[in-house]
Formats: sequence, C-alpha cells, structure tokens
Amino acid sequence: MAKLSKPGKNLPNRLLRWFDNWGRTLPWRQGAPRNPYLVWLSEIMLQQTTVAAVIPYFEKFIKLYPDVYTLANASKDEVLSHWAGLGYYARARNLHKCAKIIASDFGGIFPKTEAGLKALPGIGPYTAAAILAIAFGQPTTVVDGNIERIMARLFRVKDPWPKSKKKLHALAKGLTPELRPGDYAEALMDLGATICTTKAPDCPACPLQGDCLAFQEGLQTTLPIRERPREKPTRRGIVFWLEDNGHVLVQRRPDKGLLGGMLEFPSTPWGQEEISPGAAKPFAPVKTEWHPVAGEVRHTFTHFHLRLKVLKGVTKATGHNGQWLREKDLINAGFPTVMKKVAQHVLGEKKI
Ligand code: SF4
Repeated sequence: MAKLSKPGKNLPNRLLRWFDNWGRTLPWRQGAPRNPYLVWLSEIMLQQTTVAAVIPYFEKFIKLYPDVYTLANASKDEVLSHWAGLGYYARARNLHKCAKIIASDFGGIFPKTEAGLKALPGIGPYTAAAILAIAFGQPTTVVDGNIERIMARLFRVKDPWPKSKKKLHALAKGLTPELRPGDYAEALMDLGATICTTKAPDCPACPLQGDCLAFQEGLQTTLPIRERPREKPTRRGIVFWLEDNGHVLVQRRPDKGLLGGMLEFPSTPWGQEEISPGAAKPFAPVKTEWHPVAGEVRHTFTHFHLRLKVLKGVTKATGHNGQWLREKDLINAGFPTVMKKVAQHVLGEKKI
C-alpha cells in the first residue's frame, strides 16, 4: 500500500483561503479585531448549543445588554428570564457573575491571559482559548468537539473518543498558526459545521481533502470512533399545579444545581422510583384536594430522561413559599423548557 501523506505545513493557509471565501457571517463576528464582549457572550451561549438556537438569544441579549456594564447592572432574575429556553442555566448565572466582576474589578476590560480568563466564572480552557485567539489575536489552540472530529479524521486517529482527547488536542496544537489565529479558529469551527460534519462529511468540497488521512483511506464516516455512551437513566416526579382565580403558584429553584435560580412549579424530588399521588402529598405546597391530570410530561436533560405527572389543586391557601402568576403571564415569565412543557400539558389548547 502506498504511504499516506500527512496533513501538511500549508494546511492553515489552505483553510484560511477557504475561510476568506466561505466563512459564515454570524452576528457575533463583528469588526476586526473582534469585540471581546461579543466573543465571550457568543462562546458562553454556544457551549453545548447549536448556532441556530443561539442566534435569536444572542441578538436579544446584545439589544438588551449592548456591553458588559449593562449586563452587569441587570438583575440576575432578569438575565435568567431572558436566557429561559436556552438550557444549561448555570451558564446564565455565571455569565451575570462574570459581567459584574469585569465591570467592577477590571474596568470593563477582559483579561488578556489564559490564567486571568480562567479565573472568571463560567470560563474554562476552551472559552479562554477562543477569546484569546478570536478577540486578542493570540495563537492559542481552540479545540471543541467539532475540532476534535476534524483532527481525528485529518490524522486518522483510531483511538476511541473521548479517551483520544489529549492526543487530538496535541495534534490541533501542532497545526495552530502564529498568523491569523482567530480567523483560523473560526475557520475550523466553520469547516466542522458546514463541511466536515458528523454524519455526512462533504469531502469533495473540503479544502483539506489533500491533507486528510481518513479521506485517503475512506474512513471519513467511521472516524472518530466513539465509546458507546451509557444509557441515560429515567427520573420521575410529580408536579403540583395550584391555581386560584386565573393565577398559578410558581417558585424559584435554589441557586445551586440543575435549573438553578429558574422558575418552576412546585414538585416532589425527581428520583428513579415512581412516586404515588399519596406518597407525593408531603411535598405539596399546601394542603388541599389534589386531582391527577391525565398523561405525563417528558423531557430529556443531558444526563437523564424525566417523566413528570401533574396533580392539580384549586385553592386560595397561603403558607407556601411561592408567588402567584397570572395564567396569561406564564408565557413571558421565563420558565425553562421542562416547565413550559408542564404548563402546556395542563393548559392544553390555551397553550402558553
Ligand atoms: Fe473532513 Fe472529508 Fe475534509 Fe477529511 S476530507 S477533513 S473527512 S470533510
């Protein structure tokens, strides 16, 4: 078999030429150099979330909070309500905390070092590298899941992912250019999103075809090899829908943990065992008659599936920790998706 040629030295230039013609126009890619606030905001929003899902949220946020000071001066609850539906709510809490620190301790200017950025809430190695490369032109190596996939294919890495992460990172580092590192990072992101996609890489259109060992061996759809993901467990719980004269009882979740700080309808804890309506009653916000609502609400988080049944009560009772919201205000209240599903399940055609 003929010896395969390895990804060459000129790979970054080939990729950059392609990027100059085919790079995506995205709302956070403004100006050269890029605005660090916009880069940071977009990178936090894009963690585990698609570009298509992020764009409307990003546009809303820069309209409401055009700079780090306006974001820092907003209340946490307001920021969380505008983030509602985007998921992974710890990101929004950290975003707000980070804005406050940048505004109060750094005079509104983002640190220009990896250590300085990583010391801020919500900024890990990937986001720090992306900000340094894209906003500050530093030749850092930016590696997310998409870029790991490209490296696994370019270098024909057959070790299973995620164990191969370290190797893929080292390979990516070896390619990172000194010149135009921000454009190079964005170019790799675009290549992963539009050409070297997970299921159907468009190799004939790829500017790196001549460098790619996976393509040369016909392994482009086989790599990267993934370890079989563990089955997600299912958790169950019962939600208490309490209403009174067109108002519904809601409460805020504790700041720490899943959906931290977000609005919710009161519920039992979510556990592996099915809980009966009788066993659920000690968790109810008030003592009243509770009636089951037919069906169940299903939602999937990163690590588990959730099945929620709903008990409905009607009372003016007090002594709970929640607040009453008008039914018609539920749509703009800033619920996370799972709680929106609960409201839609109960309200049926009146959908929020
Ligand atoms: Fe990905 Fe195909 Fe390009 Fe290789 S040639 S980097 S597999 S799109």
